[in-house]
Amino acid sequence: MTTITRFAPSPTGYLHLGHAASALFCAKQAGAQGRFLLRIEDIDQTRVRPEFVDAIYEDLSWLGLSWEKPVRVQSQHFDDYQMVLDRLGDMGLLYPCFCTRKEIQTEVARIANAPHGPDGVLYPGTCRHCTVDERKDRIAAGESYALRLDMTRAIKQATGPLFWYDRKAGKQHATPEIFGDVVLARKETPTSYHLSVTHDDHIQAINLITRGEDLFFASHLHRLLQEILGYDVPEYHHHGLLTGADGKRFAKRDRAKTLRSMREEGISPDAICNQVTGI
Ligand code: GLU
Repeated sequence: MTTITRFAPSPTGYLHLGHAASALFCAKQAGAQGRFLLRIEDIDQTRVRPEFVDAIYEDLSWLGLSWEKPVRVQSQHFDDYQMVLDRLGDMGLLYPCFCTRKEIQTEVARIANAPHGPDGVLYPGTCRHCTVDERKDRIAAGESYALRLDMTRAIKQATGPLFWYDRKAGKQHATPEIFGDVVLARKETPTSYHLSVTHDDHIQAINLITRGEDLFFASHLHRLLQEILGYDVPEYHHHGLLTGADGKRFAKRDRAKTLRSMREEGISPDAICNQVTGI
């Protein structure tokens, strides 16, 4: 079977060495026989900037990478994500949540030992208990809301325990409940990372997802979404994260480490490739 991988950066800053490591790793896994795709993950329109998109193409080409065209740009596919949300909604797996962050914090503060997940404290479920009429009235009144996955119901849709295979960590048992009733869409961003990435990996027939191990936990949830939506299960390889001499991982805010600043200093793409192998 042909290996199909993707590198999926978010254009919210310039690429740094960590991105170079991840992109090169991904392309290498595809190999000469496989397919390497690039996807622009720009759903958060408040944070993305067009010059960062251009810079992604430029920096990756400079590194010597090439990818299939056309590139899938997530902001051009909000209709697709809406269709997926509609499907989940029709299955009774979503509910509108009107809580502000402050209200959630107040509610959580009242709970002794409130459970935490990979993204912080779990939603206490306040709006899960709203009646159908209350939901309708509040939406009609123009209240802002997010759409949350009813995790307990969603897990009940699965036909049995869920697993995935990670080429580095081995066979994994998915425990999506660690996310609680996770947000799958917001008013200002009518989708979410979890929903769009799971859908796009399916649409693009990605069969090997390579990404940094900082996103390892997300796969627990993605595996559940795949099950509910009837998507094929890809293999994964969550690779190690590149760290600087200080032991800290590279971050976008660390301007000195961007690929373009290194290029301006006269560092060659080969030198970068050599520096980032072995993650
Ligand atoms: N867009 C995500 C990021 O830049 C990566 C998504 C993924 O590889 O699943 O962190």
